Amino acid sequence: MHEGQRGLCFVRGVEAGEVKLFTYGRSSGFCVDPIEKKPLNHFLPGTSVLSFGTAGCNLACKFCQNWDMSKSREMDTLADRATPEMLAAAAQRLKCASVAFTYNDPVVFMEYAMDVADACREAGVKSVAVTAGYINAAPRVEFYKHMDAANVDLKGFTERFYKKICGAELGAVLETLEYLKRETSVWFEITTLLIPDENDSDAELDQMTRWIMDKLGPDVPLHFTAFHPDWKMMDKAHTPPATLTRARNIARANGLHYVYTGNVHDSAGSSTYCVGCGKRVIERDWYELGEWQLDAAGKCLHCGTRLPGVFDGAAGNWGAKRMPVRLAAMAR
Ligand code: SF4
Repeated sequence: MHEGQRGLCFVRGVEAGEVKLFTYGRSSGFCVDPIEKKPLNHFLPGTSVLSFGTAGCNLACKFCQNWDMSKSREMDTLADRATPEMLAAAAQRLKCASVAFTYNDPVVFMEYAMDVADACREAGVKSVAVTAGYINAAPRVEFYKHMDAANVDLKGFTERFYKKICGAELGAVLETLEYLKRETSVWFEITTLLIPDENDSDAELDQMTRWIMDKLGPDVPLHFTAFHPDWKMMDKAHTPPATLTRARNIARANGLHYVYTGNVHDSAGSSTYCVGCGKRVIERDWYELGEWQLDAAGKCLHCGTRLPGVFDGAAGNWGAKRMPVRLAAMAR
């Protein structure tokens, strides 16, 4: 980039001979959500998470459901200002177990995200990255040192899909997933948004879930979520619930233990079952928890098998609420 130029993400550019991040300390808004909405089903279930994003993104997904933020060229939309310390204090005051970097990819504001994560760690609040996993090897190491959990999108399983629909590369995302599994203790789950006729064929789902089984093992939770027409993909139909169930069946037949359907009312597909005895241990309907059959350490009350994930005592009771917050008003 030359002096005065902005990158594809638009939030980084060259000023006075240096590459700078123009969104540090500025957010597109804050909201307290259920952790299940990220989605994370095995990370402090039932707790609330303080979610925020900035602007810009390093991908250009034609189906982006947050395009008003991820494609924003208007820094003025970033109305809320928040230092890392303000954010950590707000999360504590709101009794959130974690903060989530979400809405747009934290990779484009990583120094801000890492500073927030450090302030939160000191305050006993955990950090969650909601990301497309499209990041180079060196910053990947740096970034994930600061994170406790992540939800990584695996948007499809063909280079064609990543190139044509997202402006990215599948290989780099697979490297991130393997890195997280092999070299970190970050708890991570995977999400695939299924788009009719783009990434939902039996063959692609079979290939993808075989890869997950082979490289990441059976215990990484996988979420299949429903697409709705948005941004530059207004011509596609909504994902039928039957497609999510078909995908879940393929993944389970390939050996994955925890496969969920999302964005639909499907209690069977969104609940968690013990791999030891087959009994339901966490009942869910969308983001609402029901019956809970785990002890404080996350072991099945029926057979003692430990559920993989991060558990800390009883289930949280945040429910399905979504609560917007103004940090500036809280700081006064
Ligand atoms: S990675 Fe997420 S935020 Fe970025 S363009 Fe794609 S869908 Fe939108």
